Amino acid sequence: MVSEFRSLPSVDKLLSEERIRHLQEAYSRELIVDLIRRHLQQERLSIAAGKPCPSTQELVESICAQVYSLINPSLRPVINATGVILHTNLGRAALSKEAITAMDAVAGGYCNLEFDLDSGRRGSRHTHVEHILCQLTGAEAVLVVNNNASAVLLALTVLAKRKEVIVSRGQAVEIGGGFRIPDVMRQSGAKLIEVGTTNCTYTKDYEEAISPKTAALMRVHSSNFRQMGFIRVVSPEELVELGNQHDLPVFDDLGSGCLLDTTKFGLDAEPTLQQSISIGAGLVFSSGDKLMGGPQAGIIVGEKPLIDRLKRHPLARAVRIDKVRLAGLLATLIHYLKGEAESKVPVWRMISAPFKEIDRRASLWAEPLGGLARVVDGETMVGGGSLPGGTLPTRLVAIGEEGKRIQRSIAQALSQRLRGQGVPIIGRISGQVLFLDPRSVLLEEDRVVLKALGDAVASLERSR
Ligand SMILES: *Cc1c(COP(=O)(O)O)cnc(C)c1O
Repeated sequence: MVSEFRSLPSVDKLLSEERIRHLQEAYSRELIVDLIRRHLQQERLSIAAGKPCPSTQELVESICAQVYSLINPSLRPVINATGVILHTNLGRAALSKEAITAMDAVAGGYCNLEFDLDSGRRGSRHTHVEHILCQLTGAEAVLVVNNNASAVLLALTVLAKRKEVIVSRGQAVEIGGGFRIPDVMRQSGAKLIEVGTTNCTYTKDYEEAISPKTAALMRVHSSNFRQMGFIRVVSPEELVELGNQHDLPVFDDLGSGCLLDTTKFGLDAEPTLQQSISIGAGLVFSSGDKLMGGPQAGIIVGEKPLIDRLKRHPLARAVRIDKVRLAGLLATLIHYLKGEAESKVPVWRMISAPFKEIDRRASLWAEPLGGLARVVDGETMVGGGSLPGGTLPTRLVAIGEEGKRIQRSIAQALSQRLRGQGVPIIGRISGQVLFLDPRSVLLEEDRVVLKALGDAVASLERSR
């Protein structure tokens, strides 16, 4: 073992290796020395554990690999051909050109984030989206924070701590990614009072649970699942009416942040912010990066006295939104005001893309794949915690064949090669078939997709 330790090269010996010398020129010497030291330390531990000493070349190799992985950002763009438009793991909504330009404009310098250009005095970051969101939703007041989870946490903490919030048992749900209504409630210090049963809740269930400690009635939109069969839910209108009788606000967690009528696209009706406000909900919560199609944000619209209390609370400071996303959100909202969301906001462009165009693109994508691919009917999911079961007809490029063992490897191998492209293409494997859906990919990305498909097939053929 002692001799194994001795055969480990010194820091200086490694520094003099040619490839390491190049690294020092390209990056910082300090970084390289630090990495070498840590590597050697690691090797001493594994030798002590009985592992053999690596060769100098092996060490050089692994140090270089580590430098490259540190230097090349691991977060990078991919193309979402999964057929899930709002894919949380792939970053949810893609932004409009205008939103990106607006973000770019404030990112590189200063802006009047909290500065009133008229008076020359301190301003508030909340004013920038206030008028536009009030205009779009009919609300009295607005607060925009980091994301919807923090919006709900903020409201419950400020308005319901040490009090009770009544929620239907069928709505005490998990939205995904660790957002569970009972957990958020506990974290806020509010007590969750679950009423009704999993499938049925009636107005009287809420009514019987109202006590002097009740702070609010809450509705949570079941945004990522759907109940069928014998179900009874209390409509938001009925809930607001009950709230009015007892002088209690209704908190409406919508999630998706929808501002357009989804039935127009053949989808189920997704509740909109403006509907909740017109019904009389006290506070309405939603994400910025789901159906709103903007950057990550939490949007709270509702009654001014309630919103004012949220704004004054220290937690509002802890979950505030930054200037870059605020600029992106503002530009996104302007599309709705101008009535151009369908043609400018990528989420809506994808949803409203004509079937014929998708069909044409699927055939185009299938070309470089030759005999490997077929074009088949399929369904695009809106996803991202909106429109559970809401799908749009689409045309898919299908690679591999159900039930054919031999084809399996083709679907897997091609999928792996597509993920390995300069801009990785992410598809969906179901059974033994790789599906690629043009609907969740923007038209202007087709060139990149076609090149990647060609390269992946060529690489597949070389390896066979
Ligand atoms: C998505 C969702 C959330 C969480 O929103 P984030 O913006 O991801 O924090 C909360 N509630 C509902 C109903 C949702 O759909």
